[in-house]
Amino acid sequence: MYDIIIVGGGTAGLSAAIYGVRAGRRVLILEAKNYGGQIINSPEVENYPGIRKISGMEFAKGLYEQATGLGAEFRQGQVLRVEVREKDRAVVVSGADGGEKEYKAKAVILATGARNRPLGVAREQELTGAGVSYCATCDGMFFRGRQVAVAGGGNTALEDAAFLAHYCERVYVVHRRDQFRGEERLVENLRQKENVEFVLNSVVEELLGEGMLEGVRIRDVATKEEKVLPVSGLFVAVGQMPDNDGFAGVVTLDDKGYIQAAEDCRTEAPGIFVAGDCRTKEVRQLATAAADGAVAALAACEYIG
Ligand code: NAP
Repeated sequence: MYDIIIVGGGTAGLSAAIYGVRAGRRVLILEAKNYGGQIINSPEVENYPGIRKISGMEFAKGLYEQATGLGAEFRQGQVLRVEVREKDRAVVVSGADGGEKEYKAKAVILATGARNRPLGVAREQELTGAGVSYCATCDGMFFRGRQVAVAGGGNTALEDAAFLAHYCERVYVVHRRDQFRGEERLVENLRQKENVEFVLNSVVEELLGEGMLEGVRIRDVATKEEKVLPVSGLFVAVGQMPDNDGFAGVVTLDDKGYIQAAEDCRTEAPGIFVAGDCRTKEVRQLATAAADGAVAALAACEYIG
């Protein structure tokens, strides 16, 4: 029996663990993959207060070592659902034998983050790993000296394009509007790079190539004109979406699938708290994920008594 089980080992979950163990609680973090969450794909983090510059991987490693060093337990496991029972909360994970395994706690913090949103173009799944990628820092090196496109107009797309520009012959940034959503500082940085080209007001219509990506057909949404970009890589960076369906029976999800809770991180289910990007909120940033972790853990401690 744990005091607190945290579902998700990203910034919110690891921050919650730090606050939980420092409050003297027995804490277990359950994570489907490895620790760190989305931030491990950011080559550079420059906006976390108190840290001038750090790689996302280094940041995540620091958080993980801090949480586990203080005594939080970390286990890999795909959480299937959470059950609210009279005396405890059960967190059910898929077992190695194909069955189910159950962990019990007095309180649960859901910190499941969000996953990459697909672009929604035909054959996207088929060509994932064969030219289509969702992680420039993971796969960028495979496209050294080649032409690639980045789809999206947020900070992730802009950072991905800057990263890819180091290795690739040409980087097209394909964005559906004429204004970027991401920070002007990042846009300006890309404007300075000779091998980066903005393809604005444009959407990817078709992925070309058999077996491997050989190009993308794009359409200008204003002029309806179409053209082919001869790229061997397409990096999709069109935001994230939550992955909370397994918890729908216990907590309320909004129309986009985020878990409803206010800044106090309390859901309407007793003993179930929520932290980070998987929560309904305005600002999804590293700093707000960490803040949620602290708030949720302290609320859970108060609930446990
Ligand atoms: P985002 O800010 O939500 O941007 C997603 C982009 O994809 C938008 O430009 C959007 O277009 C476009 N888009 C969405 N669906 C699309 C579709 N179906 N087809 C074509 N384009 C589509 O996502 P993000 O860039 O991943 O960033 C997520 C959060 O993390 C943000 O708060 C961001 O600031 C933060 N972040 C921060 C840093 C940093 O500070 N270093 C780095 C990375 C991410 P519209 O603009 O037209 O909606």
